[in-house]
Amino acid sequence: MARIVDLVAAALVPERCLHCRGPARAGAPLCDACRRALPWLPVDGCPRCGLPRPCAQGRCPAARTALAGAWAPLAHEGAARALVLAAKARAARRVAPWLAAAMTARAPAGLLAGVEVVVPAAADPARRRRRGEDHARLVADAVGRALDAPVAPLLVRRRSAPAQHARGRTARLTLPPPIVAGPVPAVVLLVDDVHTTGATLAASADALRAAGAQRVVALTATRALR
Ligand SMILES: [Zn+2]
Ligand SMILES: [Zn+2]
Repeated sequence: MARIVDLVAAALVPERCLHCRGPARAGAPLCDACRRALPWLPVDGCPRCGLPRPCAQGRCPAARTALAGAWAPLAHEGAARALVLAAKARAARRVAPWLAAAMTARAPAGLLAGVEVVVPAAADPARRRRRGEDHARLVADAVGRALDAPVAPLLVRRRSAPAQHARGRTARLTLPPPIVAGPVPAVVLLVDDVHTTGATLAASADALRAAGAQRVVALTATRALR
């Protein structure tokens, strides 16, 4: 009985935009106005670090890392940032398919060439226990389906990151590298929600390269521009 009441209520109450809380179309994570204002990124930025403009010689933040390429469809701002935060917090199942579609629809062909496996970023053990849902895994699953590539959770983290409020840039950098569980094919597409400094992606790429990958590239939903 309670379930029927819930279903009827869900059908009557319009969905709320995850950014401005205004009414949204059924199944859409954003209202039309927020969707139109999304900060889309070009496909011809720096192929190595995913910043929207080619990096000057010697200035690319990914130049000395194990990451061979990176791209995100959206800047980590406004409604795009709200979507990523909602996926982490409460709305992973509503947002993950939308993010994955945005990530695969326009991704540079060179980035995805020859991808043999899609690997989600290592989940934080404490965060997963608290929230039950592994949002990076949900996004990776949808990306794998869109690319017709297998998905393997090859990266594991045994120890938790410090709490968000206690974590700055330096804390992120000192996070222990993830452990690789299982054999790694030659070409790996690493999937995460946001590319911030790139330190976590670079540490993951390092671990995958050490375990046998020849080329590791990253596809994220958003890219922090500063
Ligand atoms: Zn809105
Ligand atoms: Zn660059």
